[in-house]
Amino acid sequence: MTVENSDMQLQANQLDAADPLRMIKDDFDLPEDTIYLDGNSLGALPKIARQRAREVVEQQWGRDLITSWNKHQWIDLPRKVGESIGGLIGAEPGQTICCDSISVNLFKLLSGALMMQRGRHKVVSQADNFPTDLYMVQGLQGLLGAAKCQLELVEENAIEASLSENVAVLLLTHVNFRSGVIHDMQRLTKLAHDKGILVIWDLAHSAGVLDLHLDDCEADFALGCGYKYLNGGPGAPAFIYIAQRHQDAFQQPLTGWMGHKTPFSFSADYHAAEGMNQCLSGTPAILSMSVLDAALSIFTKTSMSAIREKSVQLGDFFVQCLHHYNLFDLFTAASPMNAQERGSQFALAHPDAYAICQALIGHGVIGDFRSPDILRLGFAPLYVSFCDVHNATLILADIMQQKIYTQARFQARLSVT
Ligand SMILES: *Cc1c(COP(=O)(O)O)cnc(C)c1O
Repeated sequence: MTVENSDMQLQANQLDAADPLRMIKDDFDLPEDTIYLDGNSLGALPKIARQRAREVVEQQWGRDLITSWNKHQWIDLPRKVGESIGGLIGAEPGQTICCDSISVNLFKLLSGALMMQRGRHKVVSQADNFPTDLYMVQGLQGLLGAAKCQLELVEENAIEASLSENVAVLLLTHVNFRSGVIHDMQRLTKLAHDKGILVIWDLAHSAGVLDLHLDDCEADFALGCGYKYLNGGPGAPAFIYIAQRHQDAFQQPLTGWMGHKTPFSFSADYHAAEGMNQCLSGTPAILSMSVLDAALSIFTKTSMSAIREKSVQLGDFFVQCLHHYNLFDLFTAASPMNAQERGSQFALAHPDAYAICQALIGHGVIGDFRSPDILRLGFAPLYVSFCDVHNATLILADIMQQKIYTQARFQARLSVT
């Protein structure tokens, strides 16, 4: 290592020593030889989540069987977990519930929002939104017909100009999944409201890592993931937020028994529950939701403002490392250089991004590849240290200098990228 390299190492050590969140890393079970920079896709395993999984499987399901719906309050989990998430996104109680996936929840929110906007049928979204969001609008458009639901895609710089009185719903992902660009929630919500448009915010890359204030922004609807920065495990259930003022008018079409006013009256007629329970459809996935519930308890050790502050510092330090090891000579930044303008990830464009990502994984640094040419590295502040960021950059520099990624074994495409 050169003297200069040790300078960066020294800085990483100092930043770690001053990091108020550094002890939280011990709450996660991470493999020793891995630097995990993909918590934006699948959060790491909290030790308390593993413990809860064992308890729910062995004791609650194994011993207490069906009595657990009451004995261990399984029936209240969607509300309980929803409220915990509400506390992380700036939502007063009674507006957030945990259920299903983002895709399914988006179908519910879109349908409900369109029904509240009689006379309007346009749904404006971004061409580079996460595909499932667009697919769900297309599915609803197929079902209802374009006279009732019509998707209109715009580029990022044309969003404001597209907001007119004939738009029903503005559907945006708060943090772009590739570039990490953050939308100004307060401003866009206000501009949309001025034209009578309802806004659905997808918080997949925001919840658990940005300091969100949904109520203060007068958000209408939002939804997000349980398995990314909330660390709920693969396929963990998602969440829905509906502002209190909309809950009476809102109706969603997936009217399953768990959304019924009195599910255990087993009546033949559907009567929606009041408040957020109407968002539920079928029986909740108790194993997954229990694990998510346990994972969320880690957030009580800190605050979202402290998490965001570390996220910005990690991102800034990564950019500093990229400059230091001359990696901007080889990669193009596909994220804003100013950390205040991006979520907790950094995207680097390179024609061989796929092979570079595979080589990184082969050398113990897990990031991901997003088609067509993006190497995406995520910094989950609860368990990524400044030394992790520095070491990952050193490994990336080595892979590039020695062209390790050109080896055949790093070129083969796997089914999940
Ligand atoms: C990860 C992600 C999803 C995932 O949707 P699921 O239906 O929960 O699989 C949706 N939207 C965005 C923006 C995402 O980043």
